[in-house]
This record gives sequence, structure tokens and C-alpha cells, in this order.
Amino acid sequence: MAGGATRFNYSANIMVLMPVGTPPAPRAARSRTGPARRVNAVFFDVDFTLIHPGPAFDGEGYRAFAARHGLQVDASRFEEAVREASVELERLHDGAYRPEPFLRYVSRVLARMGAVGDGIEACSLQIYDEWALCHHFTLYDDVSPTLATLHAAGYRIGLISNTHRCLDSFQSHFALEPFITAAVSSSDHGYLKPHPSIFRAALDRIGTSAADGVMVGDSMVHDIAGARRVGMAAVLLVRSGQPPEPVDGVPVIRTLAELPGLLARGCGGSRPAQADGS
Ligand SMILES: [Mg+2]
Repeated sequence: MAGGATRFNYSANIMVLMPVGTPPAPRAARSRTGPARRVNAVFFDVDFTLIHPGPAFDGEGYRAFAARHGLQVDASRFEEAVREASVELERLHDGAYRPEPFLRYVSRVLARMGAVGDGIEACSLQIYDEWALCHHFTLYDDVSPTLATLHAAGYRIGLISNTHRCLDSFQSHFALEPFITAAVSSSDHGYLKPHPSIFRAALDRIGTSAADGVMVGDSMVHDIAGARRVGMAAVLLVRSGQPPEPVDGVPVIRTLAELPGLLARGCGGSRPAQADGS
């Protein structure tokens, strides 16, 4: 459940579905800042890129979880509690996936909201477990049309997610199976983004090289920096708020509807000057 629960975005960007015929080969991409690319695979982050959490994970949702465990919390303190507790998610130094930091994060949110007592541990575990359930989440409106367009254009599509959610269930729940070739979750793989291992595993699984893949996500640290470290191009999705300081060779998009055109124009991000070969 890395990524917190504060960046909700309910923008509705609708694209018209393109007819699916014989897909043309993806065009060679030419970056404005780097050499020509032969992008043939597009990898997506999941949380806050393809889906966003519903009310189960806002302040009132946490209050309802807490009540089931005999805890009383102040829902109005949720946003502040999330900000304060996020330090727990910054302590993932070795990149290995394990649930404990996320459980500590949830416990700290509950405590900051006023929870006191033995129920915090059990409540945290329930919230952690339910973060993996797809019915608590909503697909952004631009996802299915964009994946359909990219699939029809011949791109292979992958998922790379810092999650303990079953990505097979995710694809099935949101009817994305026809578009996706490979998916790697951190809980199955053992390492979290931005560790190079999870990107390489996804590239291997989809059958392409780093030079031919582009990563699309909402986290500069986890998605963009991690992908570029292994030599992939990257596109930053900023659905709301101010974009971060621009990084050379990293296009910024506000909706996934921009992505097919960006890739067709050869602006799918350039490789970093020096990729980490480790
Ligand atoms: Mg994300």
C-alpha cells in the first residue's frame, strides 16, 4: 500500500476506443533529448496511476475500520496523520518487500488519529489486508481506452506494482486481461520499486530489453528513477497538483490519454545518460 492515501484524483478523461484490427508495428520513437528509441513495451505502475482508493481508505473509512476493533479515532485528523506517518514508508532501505513497514505506517496513522489500545495491531492488519481487495478501488476513466489503443498499436503492456494485491485478480476485476502481457508485484517478486531487480524481472517476463521499454507512473522516486536506473525510458503521470521539477528526458503527462500520441511522436522519454548496469 505504498504511496499513501492522500493523492485522490477523480478526473474524468474519456478517450474514444479505437477499433482493434491488425496492429501495426510500433513506430520507432525519437526523443527530443536522446537517441531514437524502439519502444515496444509500455509498463504501468498501478496505484494512483491506473486505480485510486475509494472511501474505505479515507478518514471516515479509517474511522469505520477502527470502530470494528473497539477504537475511537477522529476522522478529521486523517490527512495530517497520513503526512506524519509517511516517514515509516521512507525506511525501506534495502528495497526488500515485507509487510511490517506498511503495518507500522497504518498503526501510526491510527494512533495519530487518536486510537489507543490493543486493537490497533489487529485493525492495522485488517486495513493492510483490505488494501489488496480490488472492490475498494476505482479505475481511472482513461485507463481502458489507453490500454486498448496501445494494444491495438502493437505495444506489449506490463504492470510493475509495489503491492501485495494479486495482479491477476486486479486484471480480471477491471477487465484489463486482454491488454496485459506480464505483471510483477513486489510481494511476489520480493523487491520494491525502485530496486532494479523488479524492473528487470518485468522486462524479462514481457520479453524485451530495457532500451525498448518505457515506464509510466506517478512516483518520481519509485517509478521514474527506478526505471531510468536500469536504462528504461520513463513518463511521469501527474494527475493533479503541481508537477515536480522537470527532469531531462522525462515527459510529464496529466492524463493517460496523452500517452499514445506521445509515444507515436517519439517523445516517450529518453534513456538516462548512464544507466546502472548492476
Ligand atoms: Mg503509484
